[in-house]
Amino acid sequence: MAEKRDYYEVLGVDRNASAEEIKKAYRKKAIQYHPDKNPGDKEAEEKFKEAAEAYDVLSDPNKKARYDQFGHAGMEGQGGFSGGGFSMEDIFSHFGDIFGSAFGGSGFGGFSGFGGFGGGGRQRVQRGSDIRIRVKLSLSEVVHGVEKKVRINKTVACPECGGKGAASSADIKTCDRCHGTGTVTRVQQTILGQMQTSSPCPDCGGTGKKITKPCPHCNGSGLIKKSEEISFKIPAGVADGMQLTVQGKGNAAPNGGINGDLLVVIEEENNTELVREGNDLIYTLYLSIPDAVLGCSAEVPGVDGRLKVKIEPGTQPGKILRLRGKGVPDVNGYGSGDMLIYIQVWMPKKLSRNEKELLESLRESESFKPEPEREEKNFFDRFRKMFG
Ligand SMILES: [Zn+2]
Ligand SMILES: [Zn+2]
Repeated sequence: MAEKRDYYEVLGVDRNASAEEIKKAYRKKAIQYHPDKNPGDKEAEEKFKEAAEAYDVLSDPNKKARYDQFGHAGMEGQGGFSGGGFSMEDIFSHFGDIFGSAFGGSGFGGFSGFGGFGGGGRQRVQRGSDIRIRVKLSLSEVVHGVEKKVRINKTVACPECGGKGAASSADIKTCDRCHGTGTVTRVQQTILGQMQTSSPCPDCGGTGKKITKPCPHCNGSGLIKKSEEISFKIPAGVADGMQLTVQGKGNAAPNGGINGDLLVVIEEENNTELVREGNDLIYTLYLSIPDAVLGCSAEVPGVDGRLKVKIEPGTQPGKILRLRGKGVPDVNGYGSGDMLIYIQVWMPKKLSRNEKELLESLRESESFKPEPEREEKNFFDRFRKMFG
């Protein structure tokens, strides 16, 4: 498949465009490339579909947020249109909100309705409902990405009748009212001239077919409940509250309609030691007074086991050590965050007489006098920036 163009580029809007601007831009493209205006023009048809796909994503706040965050790569296999699953039906389903209110003032009356595209009549395609689940991830799973398996109860096409709802194929008859097209067409006179409007056939619910003897297994609904195991990949770097879409893994729709999606909401397990801040991980390391003064080699918990860090002699409390790239990878693939080790020095409260005497003897010692101005200049700035 050819390289996908950026959705904003497709619609010719910038990334900060408002919902209204996006809608306007799409409307313009849809008129320009509409198949009725460009009969037999394959390129126009592709452009028409491309614009519709872009609008489908950018007009939906959830999809837009995901696209802004993951780009095309993030949408592959979990939503979007990588499989070419974007049908004309989907495209026309948008026209209601794009053109519905715009007929009056725009002079946009030249199309013969939208039912005539592609030759034959268009049947109403039903879509199954989405299923939303929450998945808890450990820090290690967030950092490395993970493949999850879940078992969910969902509706699937009845295996006895193949989702058709009829006892046998001989029990499916063409609907008399709409002659199998699934739609009924009305012609209306408007100030813009004659206009055709199509709506789903009320007799057959838009399926174009009537069942004379229902399938006994599903009572004619074409659907049964089933527990199903579904596996999906979660990319590295996701965060609490993000929602991934596993396309087509939700509830099935009757009459061979489109499956709903499985929506996976990410929950992060609390890590008792490491605090996540964006893509950085923060660990608070308590040093004893002798370790902070004399320096030492310390161990801190990392994502995949302990990490060794060298503590320089004279390390001040409040100092932050940075282990580059030891944080959480960026979900868009822009490198990784860091691990920040925030140094604290533990002050004992109870001391033995010996210990007291030892410290007392150091009280007047010159090297123990505080001299904060000799510390590096931006030290307190950094401290404020991080915890202020
Ligand atoms: Zn009908
Ligand atoms: Zn059945």
